[in-house]
Amino acid sequence: MIPTHGYAAFSATAPLAPFKFERREVGPKDIHIEILFCGVCHSDIHQARNEWDGTQFPVVPGHEIVGRVVKVGRDVKKFKEGDSAAVGCLVDSCGHCDHCREDQEQYCPNKTFTYNSPDSQTGAMTYGGYSSNIVVKEDFALKVPKGLDLAGTAPLLCAGITTYSPLRHWKVGKGQKVGVVGLGGLGHMGVKFANALGAHVVLFTTSPNKVKDGLALGAHEVVISKNEDEMKKHAGSFHFILNTVSAPIDVSTYLNLLRRDGTVCQVGAPPTPVPVQLFSLIFCRGSLAGSLIGGIRETQEMLDFCGERNITSEIELIKINQINEAFERVLKSDVKYRFVIGM
Ligand code: NAP
Ligand code: ZN
Repeated sequence: MIPTHGYAAFSATAPLAPFKFERREVGPKDIHIEILFCGVCHSDIHQARNEWDGTQFPVVPGHEIVGRVVKVGRDVKKFKEGDSAAVGCLVDSCGHCDHCREDQEQYCPNKTFTYNSPDSQTGAMTYGGYSSNIVVKEDFALKVPKGLDLAGTAPLLCAGITTYSPLRHWKVGKGQKVGVVGLGGLGHMGVKFANALGAHVVLFTTSPNKVKDGLALGAHEVVISKNEDEMKKHAGSFHFILNTVSAPIDVSTYLNLLRRDGTVCQVGAPPTPVPVQLFSLIFCRGSLAGSLIGGIRETQEMLDFCGERNITSEIELIKINQINEAFERVLKSDVKYRFVIGM
């Protein structure tokens, strides 16, 4: 076993604290990664505080991992010692269901998440990237394109793929008006990707102090969502709106902004249900959809897309002992625009 140290939440109300544990030995198809950077996702907070139920403590969060390969198993083909490697939200799946065969492992009923999930090989709970190292099947590790800043790449593994995947699935591009709701970790990547794909991008934010950044990141317009008059001006005009907000907001407000056959896609995952005004859907033949991260193949495609265009996340680099402060700031929507822990 491989001794590892990390930071864990020991209960839903305790601050994160140092925690020593072990990783499994490197199997024939595994790689052992020394973690250099790990992004801080709002999902880490939801789970450290057991807001979604089902958290087993202690939990070591972290699923935006970038590091250096320090050992490879006998049968590993994709990586060699010294390579950069990345790990996102998934570390395994069944490999033979329809979802896995269609490169949509994130929908496999037997997938293994990077943390708080029973390890398919050992049965123990998986521990995430707020730690010194990780052992992972090479099939679930990603190649980092040469030239990308490693710290800014870490958030691509969740915030990046979670916004890229629905934008591609709904074929967002030139000639379309696309909304992104919330300028946090996911939202700022959504703005960058929607812009890179050629759409006319409108950012909806509750924070007037983010207007300038929103425009600089690639939004063509920024709307303060609390301003009803400003919202009304956009009624019936959007092809696609991506809602990244972590809190239960009134989705119908955004359904009212769809043109005929438009879609509001939910990636923000608030713990409580939200009511929907169905007339808002009926009157535009609209769709309210959801999307979960992205498959491994598409994650590599997204990283390569970022490599070609030099797209990375805007980050604030912190030390692991600043994690509790970082959680508090994320909860106040005070992050520009992703905290990344330097290990
Ligand atoms: P984040 O950095 O905290 O960003 C969320 C943003 O939402 C905030 O910056 C803020 O933007 C806005 N917001 C927060 N509270 C609000 C409220 N009460 N009313 C209106 N707007 C509010 O979070 P994140 O890491 O991007 O994650 C966002 C959500 O996506 C979380 O629920 C997370 O669990 C979920 N998620 C889902 C997936 C998936 O696969 N579907 C993957 C990763 C994360 P403004 O200041 O601009 O208003
Ligand atoms: Zn995440």
